[in-house]
This record gives sequence, C-alpha cells and structure tokens, in this order.
Amino acid sequence: MQQRLRLPPVSDPRALISLLLSISTTRSLSQGEQLQAHLLKSGCIPCSHRASPYTLLSNHFITFYSRCNLPLLSLRSFLSLPSPPSRSAWSSLLSCLSNHYLPSLTLSYFRSMLLAGVPPNDHSIPSVARAVGCLSDSSLARSLHGMSVKTPFGTGVYVLTSVLDMYVKCLLLEEAQKVFDEMPERNVVSWSALICGYADAGLCSSALHLFRSALSDRVQVNDCTLSCVIRICADTSLLGLGALLHGLTVKVNLDSSPFVGSALVSLYSKCGLLDSSYKVFDEMPERNLSSWNSVLIASAQHGNIGTVFKLFEAMQAAGFQPNYVTFICLLTACSHAGRLDEGKRYFSLMSLYGVEPGPEHYAAMVDLLGRVGRISEALSFIQSMPIEPIESAWGALLTASRIHKDTNTAAYAAQKLFEMGSRNPGMHMLLAGTYRAAGQHLEAAQARKAMRDSGLRKDAGLSWLEAGGVIHTFVSGEQRHDRSVEIYRVLEEVGKRMEAAGYEPDTSDVHRNVRYHSERLAIGLGLLIVPEGVPIRVMKNIRVCNDCHTAIKYLTKCTGRVVILRDLNRFHRFENGTCSCGDFW
Ligand SMILES: [Zn+2]
Ligand SMILES: [Zn+2]
Repeated sequence: MQQRLRLPPVSDPRALISLLLSISTTRSLSQGEQLQAHLLKSGCIPCSHRASPYTLLSNHFITFYSRCNLPLLSLRSFLSLPSPPSRSAWSSLLSCLSNHYLPSLTLSYFRSMLLAGVPPNDHSIPSVARAVGCLSDSSLARSLHGMSVKTPFGTGVYVLTSVLDMYVKCLLLEEAQKVFDEMPERNVVSWSALICGYADAGLCSSALHLFRSALSDRVQVNDCTLSCVIRICADTSLLGLGALLHGLTVKVNLDSSPFVGSALVSLYSKCGLLDSSYKVFDEMPERNLSSWNSVLIASAQHGNIGTVFKLFEAMQAAGFQPNYVTFICLLTACSHAGRLDEGKRYFSLMSLYGVEPGPEHYAAMVDLLGRVGRISEALSFIQSMPIEPIESAWGALLTASRIHKDTNTAAYAAQKLFEMGSRNPGMHMLLAGTYRAAGQHLEAAQARKAMRDSGLRKDAGLSWLEAGGVIHTFVSGEQRHDRSVEIYRVLEEVGKRMEAAGYEPDTSDVHRNVRYHSERLAIGLGLLIVPEGVPIRVMKNIRVCNDCHTAIKYLTKCTGRVVILRDLNRFHRFENGTCSCGDFW
C-alpha cells in the first residue's frame, strides 16, 4: 500500500531533510519520488545558490536512489546539482557507482572530479579502489596508491585497507602484503582481505599462517575470514583443522552465517562426509544461493543424482533463481550419472533463466554425450559450439573415446589438445592406452614417445590420507614412509586374497613400472591405522586408473572395509566389491 506523505512546507529545509533521511532508511521509492515531485513543483531543486540548504537536500537524493539500487537516478540527481558540486556530493556519487559495480563510470567521474579541482579524500579513494579492483588493472592500482599516499588520509586504516584489497583483486599479492606490513593500524577487514587473497591464489599455507597470526593477535575474526579459511581446508582436505574451525564458528556465534554454512557444506563433502554436509545444510537458519549451490555440488560429486534433482526443485520453491554455477552442478551431476535426457533438458533450460552457457557447460555436455557412448554426437556437438572449446571439453571426448574404444576420435581429440598446448601428461597416457587396448602397439609406443619428447612426466600422481591430525602423502611406488614395510606386506597379503577372488591386474591402461599407484599405498596405510568400521578416506590429485579402480573394488570385498576415494573428478565410495560411480568416471 502506498502511503501518502505529510509533506512539510518547502520553506522549512530542515524538516524536508529529516523527512528524506527517514525515507532513505526505509528505502521507500514511492515516498522519495513524492517528495522530489513536491520540491520540483515548488521550484526548489536544483537550486542555483551554493550555500542554500536545498543543496544538501539534493545531495541526500544521490544517496537515497543509491540505497534503492537505482544508480542511474543517483547520477541524474548529481547532474542536476548546481555546479560546482560539493565534495560530499562527489563522494556520494562515486560510492554509489562503485557499490553498484559500475567501475568504468566510477573512474570517469573520478577523473572529472580531479579536473574540477576537488582533491580525493578518505571517502572517494576507497570507492575508486573498489572500482580498480573490479577492473583488475595493475597500473591503475599503483597510480591510485601513489595518489592516496600524497593525501592526508593515506595512512588511515580505512583507506589503506581499501588499497590492500585493491591489490589483492589485481592479484598483486606482494604489494598487498607490503601495504599490510606497513599499516600503522589494522582491522578485521584488512586481515580478511589478505587471508582471502592468499587463499584465492591457491597459496594455502600463507593464508593459514596469516590466519593463525590473526588469532594470536586476538583479531575478532568475522564470517568472511572463517568461511575463507574453511574453504582452504575443504580444498586441501584438512578435515581435522576444518572441524576445529567448525567448533570455533559455534563458539564465536558465526555458525548461522550462510557464508560459513556454505563453506562447511563444501568442507565435509570434499572430505568424503556427505552426511555431515547435509546435516550442516539442514540446520542452516538462513541460506543464500551459494548455500544451495554448495549442497548441489556436494550431491553431484558424490553421485547422488536423485538428491540433486530434488534439491533443485526445493531451491526454486524457496525462491532462488539458478545461476551459472547451479547449471554447472546440474550438468556435472547428469554427466556423472549418465543421464542424457535430463542433461539435455537442463542445458536447454539455461536460456529460460537468462544464463548464457559458458565453456564449462559445453564441456559437461560433451562429457555426458561421451559417457553414454554417443561419441560421434559428442564430436559434432563440440564442433558446432559457438565458443572456443576449453581443454576439458576435448579431454572429456578423449576419455570417452578411450572407454568406448574409438581410436580415431581419441586421436583427433588428442591432436586438438596438443594443438592447444595441453601440458597434461594424463592425456598422452589416455591416448597411448586407447591404442594399446585396440592392439595398435606401434601407435601406443609413439604416443608415449611424444610425451617423453615434450618433457612431460607421466603419473605425477599424489595421494594422501589424514589420520590423527597428520597428513600422510604418497607417490607411486615409494618406500619412504616410516611404515613402508608393513604397508607393502599388508597389500601383498590382501592381494593374494583378491587374486583368489578373481582379480587380475590389468596393465593395459598404463605402461607402468611400479607395482602400486599412490592411492593403493595410502589405502595400505589406512588398513593398518584406521579403526575397523571407519571408512578409509583417501584423496588423489589425478584421475584414478582403471586397474586401481578394479583393485579397490576387490579389496573392499575381501576386507569388508569401506574406502572413500576422491580423485580429480569425483568421489568413489567402494563397498563390498562395488563403487558408487557405477564404473563411470
Ligand atoms: Zn592406478
Ligand atoms: Zn568409482
């Protein structure tokens, strides 16, 4: 219901300002418009007299429209001001434009402000820094920093934090660290900006180190800092530390933040504890789009296709519109489960939601078509894409050609990958394996030679297992672990039972000179130290090979243990001789 305003007489600018401020806090657009119409009718704004109290009123209109998310109306209010506009009017405009992600407009009005002889201050610099960060323009970043140093505000915590954050967004971490080190005073935003900067750049140990310093400096960490550090634990599968942080979020009363909740959903999922992910998600008092996307990704990675479909429905029922990431989850889930019809349906649904398919969506469709054996359809799909295919699209086609033994398409996809300058040794090995499986030994040997000639080393695989707060890392065939002798002994022992149950080592996939790939060694240690009844959780940085996949299935059958293996692509839950991926990965 639109409420009619009781408008004060135009002769009382103070009353008018206090009315506008109160409208501004409630963001009532219709009331603001009524007030502006009332003023215009009385000929009050724009006012030509600079010192007039009505000028202040006009300034407040800039902020009012910004709060109503109408930045162009703010700009119109600004342009209708008497010239020259006051410093605070410039600041309000710049803050409005930059908060609404209009970086080029922000910069262009900042230049006009400087040309008009208005010096930058502690309000305008942070707005412009945000715009420069948006554009990720390093040279602009350095010149804005240089300019801010020359102002009296250059050493204030507010301005320096905005400069620090700008450097982080421009990926200039050394500069960001330097600003941080030299800050006379820091606040939680300064700490968070740098911690998240390191985390986003994949420099996890620097991020964690800084986080520890923040805690020992008794910085009141916020939900942004915590969610960022929890994400690092998720990406590196540091379940022990992640769980400690979960405890900390409860202690400091931040466990209800949707950012923290989403990070925890990813943490537990990526550590193989899907039930804990669902528990966190179910108990979240407030959810945002990224919470829904996190739980969708978790379900997709674990191959819970039915749950993915149900959650997608629930998400829409809760009033959330799917975005770019949501569709990547949906298509990946369909691809992992080989659900072609649903995948095609979701792909066509994207335009309905105004989401333009990106390279990841196309790659997921190629993967899906390939997995269900429609190799030629996948090939023509990739050839008719309106955008350049990314490496993973050709990689998916190569993988599918290997599984479905189509040597011609495999060779074609590999050719495309090498033309793109792919440095992934796994792709060479897949091509060699395809030839080998087809009995084309000469071509297989040539593919391996091409890999050696390019200086790439095969199997840079690494697996790790976390137990008692310690991460045990293995490379294939290594014997450096303290308990190596026992690990090999237990693997040999179980191996005998596996062969008696029908397991035949298959070496067609990889021309190997090691007996056990890294994940097998990690599982060997798991058999020794993980208590009976607790799943053995192993992480691996590359795709698990066919032979290891088969071997682990037999291993779980012969030992009664459950093995959860996260490889590059997805989770495999091995239990009683089968895998949750349905041999589709
Ligand atoms: Zn293997
Ligand atoms: Zn599997």
